[in-house]
Amino acid sequence: MQIAPKVWHNGKLIDWNDARVHVMTHAIHYGSSVFEGIRAYETKRGPAVFRLTEHMQRLLNSAKIYRMEIKYSRAELCQAAVELVRDSGMEHCYIRPIVFRGLDEEKPSFGVNPFPNPIEYYIGAWDWGKYLGEEALESGVDVCVSSWTRITSNSLPSMAKAGANYMNSQLIKMEAILGGFSEGIALDDRGFVSEGSGENLFLVNNGRLITPPLGAAILPGITRDSIIQIAKELGIEVEETTIQRAALYLTDELFFTGTAAEVTPIRSVDHITIGEGKRGEITKKLQEEFFKIIRGERPAPNNAPWLTYVRDSAEKKTASNSGSN
Ligand code: PMP
Repeated sequence: MQIAPKVWHNGKLIDWNDARVHVMTHAIHYGSSVFEGIRAYETKRGPAVFRLTEHMQRLLNSAKIYRMEIKYSRAELCQAAVELVRDSGMEHCYIRPIVFRGLDEEKPSFGVNPFPNPIEYYIGAWDWGKYLGEEALESGVDVCVSSWTRITSNSLPSMAKAGANYMNSQLIKMEAILGGFSEGIALDDRGFVSEGSGENLFLVNNGRLITPPLGAAILPGITRDSIIQIAKELGIEVEETTIQRAALYLTDELFFTGTAAEVTPIRSVDHITIGEGKRGEITKKLQEEFFKIIRGERPAPNNAPWLTYVRDSAEKKTASNSGSN
């Protein structure tokens, strides 16, 4: 796996090997981190980061929920990610910004109260292939409904992408893997369909898209939002509504969305075949449009600025630098 040689830390690019924390770091003990997962894709104009602003806004939202005061603006965080990708020389990669409660080594504090601990900022990047396997995008994956309930939003808010939430995701993922499945789908505390351990979920029913609402303790996925916008543009009706477990078995098509998983069809749930047991036509169409957009081959719905071209912004920066000299 190719890894970016530098990590962005508190405003500077440092060597990968220097991006280390003390074992008494608050986040390690109490899960006090918020993070993002973003992809940069290869395009004809060089690497382009997909929906960078929306991801950095979600990072700021997650931090706000956990009362972390962030000393960087959204624009500065976006610029930091762009600089890291540019410096790495990679044509495509996965970008991981993380903000967490650290350890003040001069004045250490070890309790649950996070306020005395300093806030640390890092962004790393690596080349991450297809999250659920190369073949998955075409042939689909086999999944199960998890025996674990998705965290309830009054315990750990699902609107925040917080490290602690992923203990729940790990229980779901480990159970699925040990059961011979690629992924698990969690139900919420009421028994309605929520999401995968790291993906949102869509059903295709009689030509309509159905997806659980934010109230089902889901992360407000940026790929989810992208697919909703693409579907609407294609004239496909989209409904956000509560979904019973059994409806998963009866749907025509089913797929996951996520930055890592992109748009991955699901061919079976609990060993019950979904539709024809392969990628359905609507899933395929949405996937095709999504991939064209991320590769810069067609504009996003409503011409929205979904791609940040890493080298273009370098040119702009150079131009503005020379302008001020
Ligand atoms: N749900 C969970 C629990 C996730 O971890 C992710 C991945 N970030 C998603 C949904 C999908 O979100 P996005 O499309 O923004 O990556």
